[in-house]
Amino acid sequence: MRNSDLYSRACQVIPGGVNSPVRAFQGVGGTPVFMKRGEGCHVYDSENKRYTDYVLSWGPLVLGHAYPSVVESIIQTARLGTSFGAPTELEVELAELLVNQFESIDRIRFVNSGTEATMSALRLARAYTQRDKIIKFSGNYHGHADMLLAQAGSGLATLSMSSSAGVPEKSVQDTLVAPYNNLDVVRELFSAYPGQIAGIIVEPVAGNMGLVLPKPEFLTGLKSLCEQHGALLMMDEVMTGFRAALPGAQTYFGVDADITCLGKVIGGGLPVAAYGGKRKIMEQVAPLGPMYQAGTLSGNPLGMAAGLATVRALLKPGVFESAAARCEQLVLGIREMAAQKKIPVQASSMGTMFGLYFLKEPGEISNYEDAKKLVDSERYSKFFHKMLELGHYFAPSAFEAGFVSAAHTEKDIHETLDAVCQALL
Ligand SMILES: *Cc1c(COP(=O)(O)O)cnc(C)c1O
Repeated sequence: MRNSDLYSRACQVIPGGVNSPVRAFQGVGGTPVFMKRGEGCHVYDSENKRYTDYVLSWGPLVLGHAYPSVVESIIQTARLGTSFGAPTELEVELAELLVNQFESIDRIRFVNSGTEATMSALRLARAYTQRDKIIKFSGNYHGHADMLLAQAGSGLATLSMSSSAGVPEKSVQDTLVAPYNNLDVVRELFSAYPGQIAGIIVEPVAGNMGLVLPKPEFLTGLKSLCEQHGALLMMDEVMTGFRAALPGAQTYFGVDADITCLGKVIGGGLPVAAYGGKRKIMEQVAPLGPMYQAGTLSGNPLGMAAGLATVRALLKPGVFESAAARCEQLVLGIREMAAQKKIPVQASSMGTMFGLYFLKEPGEISNYEDAKKLVDSERYSKFFHKMLELGHYFAPSAFEAGFVSAAHTEKDIHETLDAVCQALL
């Protein structure tokens, strides 16, 4: 089956032929590749062409595709029934595992997507503080809930929408937006709205506008501003959890979130996400407290089984570290080659996440405003298509992070770097 035929068929029945916008290649042009199978760090498209995968389902597949213990646990669990709408032991096990990992979490609630996790975190922060306003950062993406669709990154960046049609002004009137890595603006917002700000939601390492690391004082600064003003710090670790560091970016930077959102890796490729925090905050959640939040398939056994198998395998000594070393090897290689060819890039990694910006001119990107100004999307598109042709699948957008898995070997990275050498034009 040809990719282009599948795409035409898809476009007849699914808007734009895709179930999530960035998949459509609008940011880079051309026809999306339809995937058929994955194994380790490789994916195969409908024409049986093989690619080394640096998208990894946009983050979740930290062990690579079809990791044996993950597949096995899904199969074993499915045989016992796929959902009960009643509590199960698997939920308790994954919850215990995550609570043990995160210092800042002693109660956790599972949901089905990162979108639900952040939406629920906001509701919780508002319930707990009895305030309405929240601060978010431009270029940070927290899923597609109405009140968080003000200046979100990636998909929206390439579609050049500042927000979305269908989101009433009223839904975002309590959403205050500041530039990433800019504490002064956050400080000003707290003074402008005294006693009205419920909390700040932030990606502790920004991965939805490319990869942007937090400046040294940024996260600690946010935490102390929150403490000073009685607001809650919500860290959206849906991407960074078990990716940027173990267990999350907050651990690495030494800043505890009041509410943490998790997703992606904790579901091992199935739809699982979660939000959690200290007991006194989480006790606001129904049935203990007045904040309502529910889900028919929340904590379902298949997702829990995949998540448990994934996180357990990732926590084995050396697994994360060696994947992170492969990621760094990739980034250092790209940096070196770009320097040789005098192509201005900003390439960085943290844990198993990486970012690659082609710059219109030398400069430094530390927030979305910089990225919009400096990123050479055309050059990225050419790079992307050449890499695709050579069998290396990078994100189809200049404003996305890339990912490396524990299945990528040194040899895989070398092969990719050989291709990068040809693709850096
Ligand atoms: C992917 C992502 C989300 C949204 O998660 P979905 O499961 O796609 O709804 C939220 N926040 C961050 C930081 C993400 O990377």
